[in-house]
Formats: sequence, C-alpha cells, structure tokens
Amino acid sequence: MRRVYLILLFSLFQSRAAQAAAGPYELYLKGDLLQAASAYAALAAERPDQAKPLLNAAAALKQAGRYHDAATYLVRALERDPHNPDIYSELGWLRFHQADYAGARSAFEAAIRVQALHARAELGLASVYANLEDKPLALEHLDKYRQLRPDFAGVDYILAWNYMNFKMHREAEEALIEALRKDPSFTEARLPLAGIYARQGKFNEAWNQYYRVLDYAPGHPIASKMMKVLEGKLTKQPEEIRPPFKITKPLVMEPLDALENLSDSVKIRVGIGTGVTGKQGANNLLLFRSYEGITVTGKASGKNFANIPPDQIWYALYEGGAVVLKDPKGMVYGRFTGTLQLKPARKNGSIIFEASAKIKNPWFRGADRQYRGYIELSPNGTRGIKAVNVIESELYLLGVVPSEVAPQWPYESLKAQAVIARTQVLIRRARGGQHKKEGYHLCDGQHCQAYKGKSNEANTTSRAVVDTEGEILTYHGRPAYTFFHSNCGGWIQASKEVTGWGDSPYLVTKADVHPDKPEEPMDPWDWHLWLTGNPAANCNYPGRVRASEYRWMKIIRQKDMTFRINKDYSVGEIIDIVPLRRSPSGNVNTLRVVGKKKTVTVTREHLIRNLLGFSSLKSTLFEIEINRFKNGHVRNYWIYGGGWGHAIGLCQSGAAGLAGKYDLDYKAIMEFYFPGTSVRHIKYVKKK
Ligand SMILES: [Zn+2]
Ligand SMILES: [Zn+2]
Repeated sequence: MRRVYLILLFSLFQSRAAQAAAGPYELYLKGDLLQAASAYAALAAERPDQAKPLLNAAAALKQAGRYHDAATYLVRALERDPHNPDIYSELGWLRFHQADYAGARSAFEAAIRVQALHARAELGLASVYANLEDKPLALEHLDKYRQLRPDFAGVDYILAWNYMNFKMHREAEEALIEALRKDPSFTEARLPLAGIYARQGKFNEAWNQYYRVLDYAPGHPIASKMMKVLEGKLTKQPEEIRPPFKITKPLVMEPLDALENLSDSVKIRVGIGTGVTGKQGANNLLLFRSYEGITVTGKASGKNFANIPPDQIWYALYEGGAVVLKDPKGMVYGRFTGTLQLKPARKNGSIIFEASAKIKNPWFRGADRQYRGYIELSPNGTRGIKAVNVIESELYLLGVVPSEVAPQWPYESLKAQAVIARTQVLIRRARGGQHKKEGYHLCDGQHCQAYKGKSNEANTTSRAVVDTEGEILTYHGRPAYTFFHSNCGGWIQASKEVTGWGDSPYLVTKADVHPDKPEEPMDPWDWHLWLTGNPAANCNYPGRVRASEYRWMKIIRQKDMTFRINKDYSVGEIIDIVPLRRSPSGNVNTLRVVGKKKTVTVTREHLIRNLLGFSSLKSTLFEIEINRFKNGHVRNYWIYGGGWGHAIGLCQSGAAGLAGKYDLDYKAIMEFYFPGTSVRHIKYVKKK
C-alpha cells in the first residue's frame, strides 16, 4: 500500500514538473511542430551560448516538412558548436533530400573531417554519389557504411537499392540475400529478390520467395498475385520447391517429472490455424492421425462414431455445410453437421494434422501440426471446417512460450513469459474474449498469443511453465493486463498514449534500460540521434536478438507509396507525410498524409503501421524523411525505425536482456515492465 502511495505521489510530482516546463518539448510531442520550433527558437535567443535549442528547432521543423528552414537553424547551430559532426551530417541529409547535392556533399565531408568514422555521413556521401550516378564513389562509401553498421540489415538493403539503380543485378541479388539473412521478415527486400529471380527465368526460386513473403505478411497482395502468375511456369511441384515440415516420430522430451505431475488445470478453447484478425482460415480439408489412436465422438450425443487405430490417416472434408469423415481408403464414414470430438486414445496423447498441398489454409498446408488435449471439428458456415483445440491451460502454455520467445533465451525471461502468457489466458477466458462469436477463448496467432502446438515445445520453455505453475501477474488482486511485444526499440510506451488501449497504472512509459540507470532526458534532436543510431538498451542484445528488430529502415518509392495509401484513402498523389503526435517513447500516434486531392489524419496504431509501404512497419517508432527532386516532387521516402510491436507492457527482447545481461529474476523483470503488480499463485488447478 505504502509503495503504491509513493508511486502515486511520485507521478503527481512528475506531472507537475512536466507542466511547469510545459514548453517546446510538450508542444512537439503534441504535434504542434511549428509552435514547438518557435518556442525552441525563443529559447535559443535566451541562451546564446547553447546550440541545443537551435538543433531542437531544426528537428521540429524537419518533422513538419520544412527542410529549408530546418537547415538554416542547423547552420546557425554550427556557429555555436562548430565541431559537432552530427550537425554537419544532419545538414547534409536535409540538403540531400532537397536535391542540393553539392551542398550535401560539403556538409557530409565536413562531418567526416571532424569524425572519421561517422556512419550516417558515410551513408549520406554514398547517397549523394549515387544520385549523381558516380558508381565507384557511391559504392566506396557504402562499403565504409557497411563496416560501421555490420549487423544492420538496412545497410545491405541500401546497397541493393543502389545496385538495382545501377542495373547491377547480380550484386543486388547478393545484397538482398544478405539483408534477408539478417532480417527474414524484410518484405521490401524479398519482393525485389523474387522479381530478380522471375526476370532470370528462375520461376521456382521466385515462387518460393513470394511464398516466404506470405510467412511474414499473410495475404500480401503482390506476393499472392505473383504466386498465381508463376504457378503455370513452375518446373517442380510446389511441395518439392518448399517441402512441408513433417512430423516423423513422437517428440521425445527430456524427462520432466514435474510435467507428468502437473495438476489438472482449467480447460480452454483455442482456435487453430487462424489469420491476422484471429478468425479461422478456410479449412476445405484436414488430414489427421495420432500415435495413440483416436476416438471420434459426437459432442452433443456423446456417441462414439469411430475408433481410429494408431498412425492411420483419416480425412475430414467440408461438403455442403457438413463435415464429411473419410477413412484411409477414401470411403465415406459419415456426414456430420454437429461438432465432432477427436480424442487421443491415451492420456497425454496428441492429434497430428498432416500437411497437404490440397488444403487451402496455409497453416495446415505448409507443415504437420501436433496438439495435446483434443480437437473439435465442426462446419463453419461457408468457411469450411472449424478446428478448435480443447486443452488444459498449463499444457497449452507449453506450446505458447516457445512460440513467443526463443527457447535458448535466458531462463528467467522464459519464466516471465510463462507468467504473463498464463495471465492473458485467464483474462481472455474470464471475459469470453474477442473470439466469443467464433466459439473459442483465444486464437493461435499474434492477435492473441502465438501457439504452434506440441511439435514446437522445448525442454527449457516447458520447465519454465512447470516452475511457475499457477502463477499469474495481478494488480490489486486482479489479473493484470499483461500486454507484451517483441521489441520496444529502447523505450516502453504507456497504454494511455495509444487510442483504444485503456489507461492502466502499471502500463507506463520508461526507457528500456537497466533499472538503476537514470533515464536520460530526451528532446527532438537527441531522439533523432537515438533512433538513427544504435544506442544501448535492454532489448539491444546482439547474439540473442536480431539487430533488425531493434533498428530498421526502408526506402519506399513515391509511386508505391501513392498506390498503397490510395488503397485506403483517396488522397491522390502524395505531397507530404507528417508524423504529428508522439508518445514520450517516440511512437507516432497521429500521422498526417497530405495528398493532391485531400489530407487525412490517421490515429490508430495498426492503421499507421499498415499504411506506409507494401508491408506493415514493424512499429510506430519511426522517423520519415522525404526525398524530393529539384522541382519539389517526391522521389522517395526514407523511413528509419526501431522495435517490433506496440511497445506497451513487457518487451520480450528487453526481458531477455535483463535476465541475460543483468541477472534479474522473473519477478524483478515483471516488476520492471509492470510496476506495482505482483505475482500470485492461483488455484485454478483441480486437486487430484
Ligand atoms: Zn485472437
Ligand atoms: Zn525493449
């Protein structure tokens, strides 16, 4: 109680302090960019010895799209701080984006004179030479940039971008492959690679690359369309080009006595093979078997319809509003309009769905899937067969934790994931959840939490579930909203900042750095350097976390940006894109898009992420630079970003960092991300 009181008092004090200083930075965060710039300019006049207010004015003006004015402020700042390479470099970029190549070059060169190894100035020089079509010098500086940011997928992407512009297709191919090695989710790199293969007549490879785009961006329009186009040209069967994952023998886990002794926990219903919105995919057909044998029962009647021997594969087809069951010979065993239960014939058994190219739902087409508990099949309107996994919640968690985090991560971070995943189950089960209409508590995708079933289980993550059995995170005695995300980019966002996320006192904003490290105050200029650099953070954890999840970038051509945005909003050709409101974490919460026909303002997190380019942005933590021709028309957009996910609640990569770098235990990790909450043991297990 005392602790809560202290926190309250502290936050009161903080907001007072913030109000007292309700100055330029608050204006900037609110999206009043021009007012913020004027306020910083006024501050600069009061403090003639400081460059910082001028730099902040420049940063605010740049965000507002006033590159020329921003550059003027930077020139003035250089009079006050003439040996700061970052100012020269940023000046170079502002000039570059306005097609002033001579001016940009001299600024980048000045930056490099002050600091020989300045990554952004090297990238800037390379970009200047590229636009001047000086191939050798462009490539020379790109090479230096690559040496300075070796883990950054953006480097290889920019290299490839330039190679493509120079029509050096073989080099472009290599650079794209390298970018994808560092960041397999990099759709903007995979699409051109597929295109290169298609032009070379390597149709199988091209098809495979488009298929892989769908792994990260389900239903991606270009990839789906191109796969259809290429299908007639393939020289191999799709299953040969991309062999499905097969389960060939029972999963043998390290003996886990405790797992055998897990008490019975409450049963939950999980929709399996669901899409991005958590709705079930089209299951026209399902093939299933079990190592233990299966009993098929009618849910309503309790009647036993069939006993399937071990390893025999049976079929369930969707036909005319019914589930048609067929035996291995293809003989119709029965037609069912109600719900069928497929139960393993032995305790602790599992049901396996066999992958088949004939299945429309990619989840069941691309890999064998294995589930503990039992399965319910029922006709799902016109969508095919609905498949629900009915499973005890503790057994379900065995499949969730390794689907959400890497089993090789530091053990305490796995335990933290187990506790917050369990808490999510309780909340969604109690509320009926968003999937009440669909007849399950949770879906198996990112929408709720990723669940890939038994074949994905690992010894470490299973032990983490067992070691925390029955533990959930609570706030004032009730389950806490344990939101989590993959990587915050270095700064956690408060839930109240984001439309539709509520205002929970424990979902606060803070730097994702060691709890003892004091937070550094941020302002627009520092934030820009922070985002375009590679600053230390819990979730900046090389070797464990992909660098591309912490910092990323992409370049989008004007044609593509205009096409994409006009699919959602008929604004005409894009003239300007301005991030307005930001959270103190830097996440963009309001985006203004100015088109020739009209201007729109977008505020929803997922809408902002989905709008800019052909795949969604990893997060709303980004800065956008607009590159224009001399005549002011847009050439392309450079987006620099950080993190993956909504940045609210627990940062999974940061939890790994806190456990691995600083030896924090799982309770301390959760106290860090959900301050004021506590771990409680709940009795949702039935005593034997
Ligand atoms: Zn869901
Ligand atoms: Zn983080």
